[in-house]
Amino acid sequence: MPSVARSVPVTPQQHTGEIPAISLRGVRKEFSGGVVAVHDLDLDIAEGEFVTLLGPSGSGKTTVLRLIAGFEQPTAGTVLLRDRDVTTAPPFDRDVHTVFQDYALFPHLSVLRNVEYPLRIARVPRAERRERALAALATVRLEGLEDRNPTALSGGQRQRVALARALVDRPAVLLLDEPLGALDLKLREQMQIELKEIQRSSGITFVFVTHDQDEALTLADRTIVFSEGRVAQSGSPQEVYERPTSSFVAGFVGTSNVLAGEAAESVLGRDGSWSIRPEKISVAAADTPAVPDRTSADGVVEELVYTGATTRCVVALEAGGVLSALLLNGGADGQPLSRGQAVRLSWKPEHEVRLM
Ligand code: ADP
Ligand code: MG
Repeated sequence: MPSVARSVPVTPQQHTGEIPAISLRGVRKEFSGGVVAVHDLDLDIAEGEFVTLLGPSGSGKTTVLRLIAGFEQPTAGTVLLRDRDVTTAPPFDRDVHTVFQDYALFPHLSVLRNVEYPLRIARVPRAERRERALAALATVRLEGLEDRNPTALSGGQRQRVALARALVDRPAVLLLDEPLGALDLKLREQMQIELKEIQRSSGITFVFVTHDQDEALTLADRTIVFSEGRVAQSGSPQEVYERPTSSFVAGFVGTSNVLAGEAAESVLGRDGSWSIRPEKISVAAADTPAVPDRTSADGVVEELVYTGATTRCVVALEAGGVLSALLLNGGADGQPLSRGQAVRLSWKPEHEVRLM
């Protein structure tokens, strides 16, 4: 069982004092059959903030987006957009757009007509519609493709059309539900950079759902980690990664590298569970003298995983437990390690993070 489960109140880190773009107050969502997808959630998202919702499948991320968009109504609690109570307002009456993973484009309409669509609904005159749709297509670098049909586009291009359509009438809030999930890694990384740029220059509040920890940390001003319908932790990507508060977060965001029980007692002289990130740990020969300001632990190399830029060195400790160290493959100076070799791990005490 992951040891999470407390609901922590979540407040934005920026623009304090302003009216939040989105506020959820005591929001609970129970589906028929008794599934509680979201438990009593309190969440404020600031104007212009880029928030990522990160969590395993089934943790309630999509449900939170759908509650904000108005595709679901909460069983209890209140949804506010810029202080306006929209708890029971339909989706079209909220200044919010959603980009879905499957893009939901109209296959029989051209790219231009797809992007113009929200403006047609809003009865924007034809010439202005066209001008604004072309500008939105330029933002996502799709100039020249306006007459194509979505069926004649690549996955990445379809993704951009969906994004252009969501941006064309400048919503206050853009919700994105795993929008890059169908793209290959290179395109995904390129789109992440572009999304970040679009968000920065437009000032639109972005709420971006992903189960990919790298993506969540790369994009966000603030990452909110979900577990079983509750917020496990909320903070800047750095806080969430460097100072996880629970073993769930330590394991879900990054490699779980935890000393607990007798191993913690023996190596750290303290009880409880402690996380040490792999890149904070150095590996030296077993007979290396202990350095006064560093914690050390002896063990045997169990596995070496070469990944090009780095090698992950998995060490079984004499004190019990296993720690991984992440080594940069920088050059010829360090002694090469081998499996079965006795080593001494060491790290600075400030990198020992206590878990609840
Ligand atoms: P995530 O997006 O994090 O994968 P979801 O918000 O989709 O999670 O789902 C959270 C929980 O709510 C899951 O247990 C899921 O099965 C359940 N759930 C979601 N939508 C419905 C629904 N329409 N009816 C019943 N249960 C649902
Ligand atoms: Mg989902």
